[in-house]
Amino acid sequence: MQNLFYDYGESLYANLTNKCPNRCEFCVRETADGVGTAGSLFLDREPDAQEAVSELLKRDPKKYKELVFCGYGEPTCTLSVLIETAKKAKELGFKTRLNTNGLGSLVNEASVPELLEGLIDAVSISMNAPSAKEYDDICHSEFGEGAFGAILDFASSCKTHLPKVRFTVVDVIGEEKIEECKRLAGELGVPLFVRRAL
Ligand code: SF4
Repeated sequence: MQNLFYDYGESLYANLTNKCPNRCEFCVRETADGVGTAGSLFLDREPDAQEAVSELLKRDPKKYKELVFCGYGEPTCTLSVLIETAKKAKELGFKTRLNTNGLGSLVNEASVPELLEGLIDAVSISMNAPSAKEYDDICHSEFGEGAFGAILDFASSCKTHLPKVRFTVVDVIGEEKIEECKRLAGELGVPLFVRRAL
């Protein structure tokens, strides 16, 4: 049974792909095959849009604060499925949020925030570190040190095309780096949220 949607807190989470261009040292995928009581989130095979939409139709939007595209991989790695599922979610009345590493435009060689206009209400982008080198040291992106600039560009583009955007960092990076991240986010006019490691 594919675990494409699961309840977590007050929200419904969408798990549409295993793929990700990073290998972050703190990634929950390195230590567990699921989150909370959701069961295994590793997908045997990735859903197409039709399968994801038909699973979504089994859920009642009134029960949830929002639908969060998150998953065990990076949601923008399956862009067409993300777009079609978000379209249906908006038709059904869900509020939508995307939790992303901010590398979607690089992965897809397209302006992803523009393609998500009208479909995603809020975006959380993992900043993880205050510089390209430090980011690559912990996230080991297939884009190397080029990843970090792309993430900052992605956030700027989200500001133009989507109603709400924020950066996130995990508290394990320490106070000093968190402060540097805050400064950098502030320069871009994007708020930064510090979250606790799972
Ligand atoms: S970007 Fe997210 S999904 Fe990808 S390795 Fe890092 S923490 Fe895991």
